[in-house]
Amino acid sequence: MGLGSIRKTVLVTGAAGFLGSHLVDRLLAEGFEVVGLDNLMTGDLGNLEQAGRDPHFHLEIGDVRETLKVYAEIIFNFACPASPIHYQSDPYATLTTSVLGALRLVEHARLRRCRIVHASTSEVYGDPLEHPQTEEYWGHVNPIGDRACYDEGKRAAETILRDAVRIHGADARIIRIFNTYGPRMALDDGRVVSNFLIQAIRNQPITIYGSGEQSRSFCYVSDLVDGIIETALAPQFDSPMNLGNPNEFTMLDLAESVMKVTGKKVELVRKPLPADDPKRRCPDIAKARRQIGFEPKIQILEGLKRTYDNFVSRMGVD
Ligand code: UDP
Repeated sequence: MGLGSIRKTVLVTGAAGFLGSHLVDRLLAEGFEVVGLDNLMTGDLGNLEQAGRDPHFHLEIGDVRETLKVYAEIIFNFACPASPIHYQSDPYATLTTSVLGALRLVEHARLRRCRIVHASTSEVYGDPLEHPQTEEYWGHVNPIGDRACYDEGKRAAETILRDAVRIHGADARIIRIFNTYGPRMALDDGRVVSNFLIQAIRNQPITIYGSGEQSRSFCYVSDLVDGIIETALAPQFDSPMNLGNPNEFTMLDLAESVMKVTGKKVELVRKPLPADDPKRRCPDIAKARRQIGFEPKIQILEGLKRTYDNFVSRMGVD
C-alpha cells in the first residue's frame, strides 16, 4: 500500500487475542502505525511476540469499556472473549465488553472522526432456522440461555453502531465473523478445532458433543484477515456483512480431517451437546464477494496442517 512517509495510525482492541494479533501483524506489514489495546482477560502477550519487535507497534494494557485515550484513523474493535467456555466463564464481563465497548467507540468516533471496523459474529443468528445465513436473517436467539451474554451483547453492539451511523453519520463497519481457526488459537479455549487437534496430538479420544452431525463452516485466519483489511479500506461499506468460509461440514467430518492431517487414528467419544448449540451454521458470502471481492483460499486440510504445525511447536511435542 502506498502510504508515503506518513503512516496512518490504527487501533486494534483485543490485540493480544487470536484474531486481534493476526490483524496487528498484517496491519504492520501493510505499513500502518499500530496501537494495540488489551486487558489480557483472554488475550496472550505471546501472540504479540512478532509485533513487539516492530518499532511501529505500541501496546497499551487497558479496557475497551473505559474511555479511549488513543487517536487512530481506523479502530478495529476485536475486544471480547469469543470461545464459549471463555465467554461463559464471566458472562457479565462478556456482555459489558461488547455493549460498553461499542458505546465508548461511538463516543470516541463522534469527537474525532474515525472509521470503526467492528467484529460482530455469526452468533447473532443464534441457532438459525434459515440456512445458509444471509445478512437479512434476524436470527433465532435465546435471550436467557448460556450463550446469551455473548450473542445478545454482540447484537446490542450492532444496534449501537448502526444507530451511530443512522443518527450521527458515523463510519462504522460491521462484519459478522463465522468460525475461524489457525495458529495461535488458545490451547485451552475448548473449541472444536483446538480440542480435536490437541486430542489427536496426545493420542487421546476425540470428544464429539451430541451426535456430531451438527455443522460449522471454518475459515482459515489469513483469509479472514484479508476480508477485514478489504473492509477497512473500501471507499464505501454497507453493514452488516458476513465473513467466513462457506465450506460446511459436520463435526464427524472434521474429526476425520483432523485424523488425516495428524496421521493419528484415535477413538471418538460422545459427550453431551452444550445448551443452545447451533445445529447448522454456514455463511452466505454473496455480499462479501460483491462488496469487497472476498474469496477464501485456504481449504480445510491445508489450514488444519498449518494449525497442527503451530500446535505441535507450542505444545513442545514431536
Ligand atoms: N464440539 C465438539 N467437541 C469438542 C468441542 C466442540 O463436538 O470437543 C462441537 C460443539 O458442540 C459445536 C461445534 O463443535 O457444535 C463447534 O464448537 P466451538 O466451541 O468450536 O464453536 P461454536 O461454533 O459452537 O461457537
